[in-house]
Amino acid sequence: MILDKIDELLKEVSALQARNAEEIEQLRLKYLSKKGEITALMADFRNVAADQKKAVGIKINELKQAALSKINELKEQVETSEEEKDDLDLTRTAYPILLGTRHPLTIVKNEIIDIFSRMGFTLAEGPEVDDDLHVFTKLNFAPDHPARDMQDTFFIEQNPNDVTKNIILRSHTSGDQAHYMETHQPPLRIICPGRVYRNEAISARAHCFFHQVEGLYIDKNVSFTDLKQVLLTFAREMFGADTKIRLRPSYFPFTEPSAEMDISCNICGGKGCGFCKHTGWVEILGCGMVDPNVLEACGIDSKSYTGYAFGMGVERITNLKYRVSDLRMFSENDTRFLEEFKTAH
Ligand SMILES: [Zn+2]
Repeated sequence: MILDKIDELLKEVSALQARNAEEIEQLRLKYLSKKGEITALMADFRNVAADQKKAVGIKINELKQAALSKINELKEQVETSEEEKDDLDLTRTAYPILLGTRHPLTIVKNEIIDIFSRMGFTLAEGPEVDDDLHVFTKLNFAPDHPARDMQDTFFIEQNPNDVTKNIILRSHTSGDQAHYMETHQPPLRIICPGRVYRNEAISARAHCFFHQVEGLYIDKNVSFTDLKQVLLTFAREMFGADTKIRLRPSYFPFTEPSAEMDISCNICGGKGCGFCKHTGWVEILGCGMVDPNVLEACGIDSKSYTGYAFGMGVERITNLKYRVSDLRMFSENDTRFLEEFKTAH
């Protein structure tokens, strides 16, 4: 009989619930106080037959322990939920609302777009996931050009029968030129900002993604002089009216002739410092006259039209303007870094 009663109480205790400290105290009184049910069992214990005393004693102890630990468990539950309530401060004002800041790369990209817009360039954007045809083939890259290597470019889908159908993450924004020329006839005057990807190990000086702005101008009688004038205007708008530029011969598959452009170091004013490696000049972009092969591949008559193209790295320009020398800072989302640009836009 007493064993049945104990089993019943064990079941009851294991299902106990309480919403607050007061209810827990009621439960404690009901089971564990001097007048509680478990204490009453102790009184009955006297009447238990001698040969059963041991088994019943163990059972009663088990019940007492179960009741104690259940009550402690309920206490903890109630305390935790009250602490959670304390975290919610309903009297706190909603103002001032903290505003975010523009990312430094966005600030610089917008400034580049703004300068070229004032010179009559319009915005054109291409896809980040593109094919070999537009990123390499139409831009006059030789079939064995190293840029096509998986070491340099991220492949999404390879076509074993036709490399031009390989699907890749674009490795430069120059592919946007090909898309635009295919669908528009001259005169064309566009800038294409965007993110590009290369298969590189991440370090302070290299990253697997970065940003470029590409420019393209195609019309009748466009000359290298026009290119130089546009780039000089850009450099002076971006880095100050005293900025000088110089063009050094270079090579790109899609332009002929090609050049790299330096500006007079905006940190030492051209006198020479650690930043410009004491040369007084820093490189900022690549450019050249669009190769006639590219015009023809994109459906533009190269006998009637000529044009120039240029491309620059947004991170590079941002580094020159704001001295962000570690590329990783741009994508780490450290708010202390980002807040430094609060007043820049
Ligand atoms: Zn310098």
